[in-house]
Amino acid sequence: MAAKIALVGRPNVGKSTLFNRLVGKRLALVDDTPGVTRDRREGEAKLGDLSFTVVDTPGLEEAPEAALEGRMRQQTDRAVEDAAACLFMIDARAGVTPLDKAFASILRSSGKPVILLANKAEGSAANAGLYDAYALGVGEPIAISAEHGEGMGDLYAALESFL
Ligand code: GDP
Ligand code: MG
Repeated sequence: MAAKIALVGRPNVGKSTLFNRLVGKRLALVDDTPGVTRDRREGEAKLGDLSFTVVDTPGLEEAPEAALEGRMRQQTDRAVEDAAACLFMIDARAGVTPLDKAFASILRSSGKPVILLANKAEGSAANAGLYDAYALGVGEPIAISAEHGEGMGDLYAALESFL
């Protein structure tokens, strides 16, 4: 069975864009437990000669503000459960937000290896956000553009040791 890699982060950073890039048309095995399908998507990912199962996490947009932290923790815990490592994505253009910090803290307490991805890093608008990202305390950010397919070699190098 392929190792699982969980894709986590706040809404709109580009998780599903990366998921789609890695999985392409091989979208598969969606859990059909009621209520779970919407909350979790899995697919067989390929990156160069690496194969793994990537687990996307859903929109927290629907959660009421007061319930957000609890939902984040619940969904993140579920996504990282039996994952070999997590891809924690932030939006390098937006910089680090309070929600990103909350995710970082959840991930640190999960004890899983974390690979920090600073997405939307095409062009130079992202440089400031990239430096901010060090403050999350989960290691060196890898600049990528999920939309344009940039930084995939660096992502490959970071993932390789967990697969
Ligand atoms: P998710 O909520 O984290 O799954 O984010 P989505 O994948 O749905 O993307 C949110 C928005 O960011 C969409 O409008 C994407 O087109 C955009 N986006 C995703 N990746 C990139 C990127 O690399 N660069 C730019 N500029 N926009 C991106
Ligand atoms: Mg999404």
